[in-house]
Amino acid sequence: MSLLSVAEARERILSHFQPVAAESLPLVECASRVLARDITASTNLPLFDNSSMDGFALRAADVAGAAPDSARTLRVVADIPAGATPTVSLAEGQAARIMTGAPLPQGADAVLPVEDTDFQNRSAGLPAPEFVQAYQAVKAGNNVRPRGMDIHAGEAVLQAGHLLKPQDLGVLAMLGEAQVRVYRRPRVALLSSGDELLAVDAPLESGKIRDSNSYTLAALIESAGAEVLRLGVAADRREAVEALVEQAATLQVDLILSSAGVSVGAFDYVKEVIESNGRLDFWRVNMRPGKPLAFGDYRGIPFIGLPGNPVSAFVGFEVFVRPALGRLGGLKTVSRPRVRVRLGEAVESDGRESYLRAEIREENGTLTAYLSGHQGSGNLLSLVRANALLIIPAGVKSAPAYQEVDAWML
Ligand code: AMP
Ligand code: MG
Repeated sequence: MSLLSVAEARERILSHFQPVAAESLPLVECASRVLARDITASTNLPLFDNSSMDGFALRAADVAGAAPDSARTLRVVADIPAGATPTVSLAEGQAARIMTGAPLPQGADAVLPVEDTDFQNRSAGLPAPEFVQAYQAVKAGNNVRPRGMDIHAGEAVLQAGHLLKPQDLGVLAMLGEAQVRVYRRPRVALLSSGDELLAVDAPLESGKIRDSNSYTLAALIESAGAEVLRLGVAADRREAVEALVEQAATLQVDLILSSAGVSVGAFDYVKEVIESNGRLDFWRVNMRPGKPLAFGDYRGIPFIGLPGNPVSAFVGFEVFVRPALGRLGGLKTVSRPRVRVRLGEAVESDGRESYLRAEIREENGTLTAYLSGHQGSGNLLSLVRANALLIIPAGVKSAPAYQEVDAWML
C-alpha cells in the first residue's frame, strides 16, 4: 500500500459524489440550505423612488439658498405615510410631508429632513402643517432612494450552489421568492465499531471506554448541513457490522460513515462485510493525525471509514467528509477557507501533512498561533481548547516561531 497525498485522497473521494436532488421549500425553512438554481431579480429594489428620511418632499430648486436666517416657506399639499400612494404632483413652492420609506410624489426631486424645518414634531397622528419653513438647501436627489438603486430587475443576485445566509433570506423575501429551490439535505448513516465501546450512560466496565465519536461526528455532520441517522455501535463481529450497514442501506442514505476499524490487518470483518456487497479500499494517507482511511461503497452507497481515535476522526471528517457532504449537498465551493497566521512558537511535524490543534489569538494586530495542548490523536482536550487547525504541509518537519502558516478556523 503506497502513501496517498491528502489532496489525492480527497479528489478520489470527491469524484464519487454528485449533488442530491433539489426540493422546493417555503422561504422560512431555507436558512443554511444550498440554493439549487440561480436567482435573478424579478423587480427593481427599491421598488419605487422613496424617502430615506422623515421630512418634506420638495423641489430642490424651491429651497436653493435656504438657511436658518433665510428660510423658504412652502405650502404643504399632501401627507404621505409609508405604504401610501401619493396622488399629488408638486408644483412650484409646494411640499409634501413624507415618512421614511414612503413613495416620492410626482414633481418632487429631494427630501428635506424634519430637523431642517420649523416642523420638528414627529408624533404619530399629528396632522401635517399647512406651511413649512425650510432652513436648509438640498440638492436634487438628496435623501431619495431611487428605484433600482440596490438591485436592477433582471440582475443576477445569487447563484446555484450558494449557502443561504440570513441576509440572503432577506433579499429573497424582497424579491418575492416565497418558495425556493434548494438541495435536499444529504442523509448520513453514522456507526461506531468496537467491543470496547460503552454508551454514555452505561456503567463503566474494566477495559471499556465510552463511545464519544458518535457524538462529535453526529454534530459535525449536522454542522455540514446534512441529516444524521445514528445507528449506534457495532461489536467487533461480522454479523454486528453487517446488521448496521444493512440498516444504513435500507434507510437509503447518501453516505455511510463509520469510525474505527480501519487500521491495517486487525479488522478484516469490516472489509469482508462491505466487500460482500460492494468494495472497500484501505488507504494510508500522508497525514497526521489520521493516516488510515477506508473508502468504498456498500450496495452502491459510498462508505467512508474514519480512524477511531477521537482527534483523528475529527480531522478526517474535516479533511474528507465535510467536502464530500458539501458536494452531495450541492455546494459550489467545498473547500474550507484558509487564513494565514503567524506561529507564536516553533512547531514540529514528522513530515506528513499535519493538522495541529492551536489557539489563535490576536497579538498586536497579528493572528498568532500557539499549540493548544498535547497533540496525541487520542487527546481530545487540546482539540476542545483549540479554535483552529494549523496545516503544516507534507515534507516540513519543523517550523520556527514567526513563520506564517495556513490555518482552518474552527
Ligand atoms: P481502532 O481504529 O478501532 O483501532 O480504534 C483506535 C482507537 O480509537 C482506540 O483507542 C479505540 O478505543 C478508539 N475509538 C474507537 N471508536 C471510538 C469511539 N466511537 N469513541 C471513542 N473512541 C473510540
Ligand atoms: Mg476498534
